[in-house]
Amino acid sequence: MMGIHCVLKVTELFTQSSPFFYSVQEGPGGLWDSVKKATFVIGSGILFLAAFGNSLTWHLQKFWGASGDFWQNLWTKLYLAFEGHDAALFYLGTMLIPTLAFWGSNALLLLVDTTGKPSFITRYRIQVDKNNPVDPAKLRHALKTVLFNQVFISGPMVVVAYYIMSWRGTPCGPELPTFHWGLTELAIFGILEEILFYYSHRLFHHPSLYKHFHKQHHEWTAPIGVVSIYAHPLEHVISNMLPVVIGPVLLGSHVSTTCMWYCLALVSTTISHCGYHLPFLPSPEFHDFHHLRFNQCFGVLGVLDRLHGTDTKFRQTKQYERHTLLTSLTPLMESIPDTPKKGQ
Ligand SMILES: [Zn+2]
Ligand SMILES: [Zn+2]
Repeated sequence: MMGIHCVLKVTELFTQSSPFFYSVQEGPGGLWDSVKKATFVIGSGILFLAAFGNSLTWHLQKFWGASGDFWQNLWTKLYLAFEGHDAALFYLGTMLIPTLAFWGSNALLLLVDTTGKPSFITRYRIQVDKNNPVDPAKLRHALKTVLFNQVFISGPMVVVAYYIMSWRGTPCGPELPTFHWGLTELAIFGILEEILFYYSHRLFHHPSLYKHFHKQHHEWTAPIGVVSIYAHPLEHVISNMLPVVIGPVLLGSHVSTTCMWYCLALVSTTISHCGYHLPFLPSPEFHDFHHLRFNQCFGVLGVLDRLHGTDTKFRQTKQYERHTLLTSLTPLMESIPDTPKKGQ
């Protein structure tokens, strides 16, 4: 009964407010353009990873004198060191390393957020007058929720994932997947995350759910890195964890790929919430705008927002003009300044 009710609500949600067919009919700058843009982003990311992976391997082999397949040898050593303690190996790759990646990147950001220094970083702030410095009481409250979510929600979910994955295969097998299969898996995970995050996130914006669950995440209209997992526990399960965990479980991935994916997902959500549009990092303008305006930019990659027309207002803003990879040291707030308001 509950299920049917939910399904009806979902269809209502997507037919009422976002006319799918209008978006498809759009000309230049329409859906196809957006798919091309996302393909370019994913494609160039994969090429970069491939190039980086190959050159890193080459350097390591050249300078460290490693023979044969460097990564496979490294994995074999680790695998033998754990002597068949698969669970320990799994939790190292899916809990400890991703958690360190999250707190490592967030520790650096928190230093800037709490001190307002160094100024060469704060120059890149997206919402110039906000979090300068961040309110300590608000931050303490957010940190408590973030830790609660990591310990009591993410942890147990990764344990469940371990049992499902061990039941259907061997996530910690002695052989690494090939480099190209690993990259293909990452692309599939990214697409699954976009679909599940977009629709669950939009559902949480339905008035009947918003005030009970998602309002908490939106207390931060100018987000900072750690706020990426500052959310109601139910939202953390459905919108933050499921879209990320489902890919490796469905594909029965090797723990090495899963580890890389979790780190990537945690660091990229940290960047999209961090509040600074830094050079040579993915643009956080899209999700920052979601926190500023609430009813725009629900997805991760932006393809589904274009499809459902939930980025139309965003595309008329300065933030959209700034929504690119910054390849110079000049902050985009300076190269593409806000239009002065009337009377100024
Ligand atoms: Zn957010
Ligand atoms: Zn939201």
